[in-house]
Amino acid sequence: MISDQLRLINARLPQGTSLVCVSKFQPESAISEAYEAGQRVFGESHVQELQRKHEALPPDIEWHFIGHLQTNKVKYIAPYVSLIHAVDSPRLLAEISKQGQRCGRSIPCLMQLHVAEEETKHGFALAEARDYLMANEWRELTGARLVGFMCMATFPDAQPQIASEFAQAEELALWAEHNIDQQMTVRSWGMSGDWPIAVEHGATLVRIGTQIFGERHYD
Ligand SMILES: *Cc1c(COP(=O)(O)O)cnc(C)c1O
Repeated sequence: MISDQLRLINARLPQGTSLVCVSKFQPESAISEAYEAGQRVFGESHVQELQRKHEALPPDIEWHFIGHLQTNKVKYIAPYVSLIHAVDSPRLLAEISKQGQRCGRSIPCLMQLHVAEEETKHGFALAEARDYLMANEWRELTGARLVGFMCMATFPDAQPQIASEFAQAEELALWAEHNIDQQMTVRSWGMSGDWPIAVEHGATLVRIGTQIFGERHYD
């Protein structure tokens, strides 16, 4: 049961860490069930699907966009998205800021860090992230607000590898919080297969889908 899984996970999350319920490729009925159980924060990774669900489901849901976001689609979600997790380029952040300004908002964003070995993963390399933050140009992007970092670990088989990747992300995040901006407090890492490791390495948000809903429905 969805409500049982939510209860189990919430019971294991330490104070200061909260759950993003990843509902991509899950039907609205499943989201409603989680909503009835008290969950309000949901993560989606496709713009069209998010648009459809945002229109159909209760207005007090906080929608997080967790997937790779194309610059030409930012405008569709800019009016309402609560947090964009995977900002993987300066160009994307600039576009989010532009669309945020257009809506009179400052859209909360996370910088995606590339810590995994897989080349398919997006994001800033650690040194790149440091340089970008120290250069300060991002501070002029008033329609977007950097509030922390996100990363995805190498696919969950090698546990020591995953721990080391989360540790690297945590180190950078703490450096930024202390040296760049005290508002950069959000650390989004951990999915169904690796969230307990992420919690040990400072995650403040875990993004969990299949452990709550079961397998995704791709048709
Ligand atoms: C799909 C997805 C998740 C959730 O993955 P599960 O293994 O189903 O928990 C988390 N983060 C991102 C970025 C995703 O795309």
